[in-house]
Amino acid sequence: MSYIIGKNCDGCIDTSCVNVCPVDCINGPIIIDGLGKEVKGMSDEEKIGKQMYINPDVCIKCGACVPECPVDAIYRDEAEAILLNDEESIEKNYGFFGLKFN
Ligand code: SF4
Repeated sequence: MSYIIGKNCDGCIDTSCVNVCPVDCINGPIIIDGLGKEVKGMSDEEKIGKQMYINPDVCIKCGACVPECPVDAIYRDEAEAILLNDEESIEKNYGFFGLKFN
């Protein structure tokens, strides 16, 4: 089980969450271990279709990232994402790190 970044992040990629994660497990939208640094300098247009991802193998489920997100994009676990009809984001979070959910 892991926190999951959902579809609300698409086009926002605020990256405030990255700064509070104690284990540096929030990455993307392009570089797998870049901690979101590539977002700086992106235009609003370039951000469309891009989002951040949480590495489910590393997340310690501390919850620190949740209040940092300005668009409430972070689910507490996979079950919450499914409940809110955003199962696709589970696959995206796992898939970004070369992992599979279930
Ligand atoms: Fe990082 Fe904690 Fe959020 Fe997991 S729950 S992504 S460890 S800040």
